[in-house]
Amino acid sequence: MDATASDPGAGHGAASITVEQVGKVYPDGTVAVGDITLEVRAGELAVLIGPSGCGKSTVLRMLNRLIEPSKGRILLDGEDIAGQDPVALRRRIGYVIQDVGLFPHQTIRTNVGTVPRLLGGERKQIRARADELLELVGLDPARHGDRYPHELSGGQRQRVGVARALAADPVVLLMDEPFSAVDPIVRGRLQEEFLRLQATVRKTIVLVTHDIDEAVRLGDRIAVLAEGGLLLQYAPPAEVLSAPASETVARFVGADRGIRRLAVTRVRDAMRPLSGTEDVQRLPAIPDSGTLYDALAAMLTDDTLNVVVIRDGRPVGTVSRSAIFATPGGQDRATA
Ligand code: ADP
Repeated sequence: MDATASDPGAGHGAASITVEQVGKVYPDGTVAVGDITLEVRAGELAVLIGPSGCGKSTVLRMLNRLIEPSKGRILLDGEDIAGQDPVALRRRIGYVIQDVGLFPHQTIRTNVGTVPRLLGGERKQIRARADELLELVGLDPARHGDRYPHELSGGQRQRVGVARALAADPVVLLMDEPFSAVDPIVRGRLQEEFLRLQATVRKTIVLVTHDIDEAVRLGDRIAVLAEGGLLLQYAPPAEVLSAPASETVARFVGADRGIRRLAVTRVRDAMRPLSGTEDVQRLPAIPDSGTLYDALAAMLTDDTLNVVVIRDGRPVGTVSRSAIFATPGGQDRATA
């Protein structure tokens, strides 16, 4: 789906990214990235996942020219980034890293305004923009704007990092293990908030993680990489889980991929429409935005073989236990 100018949250909008046969050999001979080709559509979130050392960060940093590829081309909205000024390019690309990298001696508000200030914006406008972004990421500017980074929790600092990366209204956001420095409970909450934020701003995002649950939860598509920077599979989460391209991918996504698949497939993909004769009164109810995981959990809790699917407050269909296990992974993400 394209982010369009008519979307108020989209601002400059989002750019597509095309990676064409890109490879990277470091000067010491290490082949960090073999040969990668993939496309991230405008407004989509692609996750790079794979074991440590498989070249994820190298790929990410080639996208904003912190690292130059040894071969291949990278296009932003169809234009080769090799011909673009790296500094100007980086101003169009937000970058969020694990421990955020906030400036410790600057207030939160000043941190968020860093790039607009570099771009020579007007002080009052920058301040207003910073406050708007703090609110967008769930921080009260009146309470937190004048504080310093050490006066915030890890989760709050992470939100500030995202706000700062969005400040110049970039067309692409790169995120390198953005949630791994916080504890699992905070991480879950940040992921939820981040999905809501992305639904508003619709940036093109490339996110690196080693956590398959995070990849499945956040990604529109997941790129599974292997040692030597090889791309094993690039597909929507449900497809990676239900039809892994190889044994290696299957092993990597884990033995419990069946359960994970249920969590990314919507009930409507397994639903049988009501014929009007069924008695659905006593069945557990699941909204049609719910997942097969929710449906199975409700069946087990209520000891039934079916659930009723509700849309706009009205029953529209049923899902049976056997349909759950017969349904291949849906193509759309269930976490949206
Ligand atoms: P990941 O992000 O998946 O952990 P990286 O992209 O950081 O992987 O690294 C990929 C490979 O390249 C690893 O083997 C790493 O040791 C190597 N590498 C990374 N940076 C350099 C460098 N500057 N010089 C030589 N080798 C490097």
